[in-house]
Amino acid sequence: MKHKITLIPGDGIGPEVTDAAKMCIEATGVKIEWEEVIAGLSAKEKFGELLPENVIESIKRNKVALKGPIVTPIGEGFRSVNVAIRHALDLYACVRPAKTYPGVKSFYKDIDLVIVRENSEDLYSGIEFEEGQSATKKLISQIEKASKKKIRPGSGISIKPISKFATERIVRFAFEYALEFKRKKITCVTKANIMKFTDGLFLKTAREVAKKYVGKIIFEEMLVDNMSMQLVQKPNNYDILLLPNLYGDILSDLCAGLIGGLGIAPGANIGDNMGVFEAVHGSAQKYKGLNKVNPTAMVLSGVLMLRYIKEDKSAERLEDAVKKVIAEGKSVTYDFKADPNDPNAVGTKEMTNAIISKL
Ligand code: NAD
Repeated sequence: MKHKITLIPGDGIGPEVTDAAKMCIEATGVKIEWEEVIAGLSAKEKFGELLPENVIESIKRNKVALKGPIVTPIGEGFRSVNVAIRHALDLYACVRPAKTYPGVKSFYKDIDLVIVRENSEDLYSGIEFEEGQSATKKLISQIEKASKKKIRPGSGISIKPISKFATERIVRFAFEYALEFKRKKITCVTKANIMKFTDGLFLKTAREVAKKYVGKIIFEEMLVDNMSMQLVQKPNNYDILLLPNLYGDILSDLCAGLIGGLGIAPGANIGDNMGVFEAVHGSAQKYKGLNKVNPTAMVLSGVLMLRYIKEDKSAERLEDAVKKVIAEGKSVTYDFKADPNDPNAVGTKEMTNAIISKL
């Protein structure tokens, strides 16, 4: 069967790594008709818009997309296109496996974690009030009245909504994922001791949903600060980590660090009948066009995509090919080397070709 899939090359290193993933996926023999659409800086230049409507329409139509990273400047200007895509399509589950492959440069071995991050609310809801604006001052005085607490004048405010509805569906998703992929344990990570009505609600809801899976999947709880330490000391004690949006984002990068870096950390954003597959890493602008960065994160995101479209055999073969190239350590990019300036490191294209040669 031929699959029709949306392809978004993205910014910075995006076009190079999506091209690598596309080549590897095609080399498995799976038949795909790619519908390429642009978002991010290139779309802004061409159409005057960062996220043209046809991008969302294309994903809605095809139900599956492979997406490169898109730039989000810090602290000013436009909001994240990545977050906008997740919100527009209600891709509420962010799934980020973190696995060590033999041959990878890491302090750890045999790590096999999966981050399941709520993707639709929390501090990512984009409800923010700028310091000094009249709406902000009004809001501050209303909050002070309702809470009987003072907020310093000149504060900016970001809103953190967490609902029972969104929590229930992400917790159910995590448990169903655990059953489908034969996982044993879910650790729910919050700061429920401090944020009782947001993280507290997340935890309370998770405990409720977990009751339905007693005897099938182990459920445990952990505060996010403790979790950060535990992950550095004993990452092998964990299986699936279930988190609200912001902690999920931060611990995803921590887990990427455990397994050898952002260059090998894949991800998926999943909704009820749609999935957008992208690496955890961003657009790494300084490496743009240099044929330098590691294609693995994007190729492994392609593996997740192949599983999603039920091309399991091809997914398996592609993951094995990646594993072999990493284990051999000959045709790997700079980030796999102890010295990043190691002259034996190869470029993005060479590593991609090596992966294809192992299929
Ligand atoms: P980044 O992930 O782009 O880069 C951080 C560092 O990680 C790089 O300097 C590089 O050393 C390393 N790295 C990243 N990808 C690599 C790869 N494939 N191979 C080898 N090394 C790699 O993070 P940043 O610099 O914080 O973000 C750059 C831009 O990307 C920002 O605008 C940010 O908002 C955006 N971003 C987008 C997404 C997304 O599209 N989903 C995700 C994260 C960041």
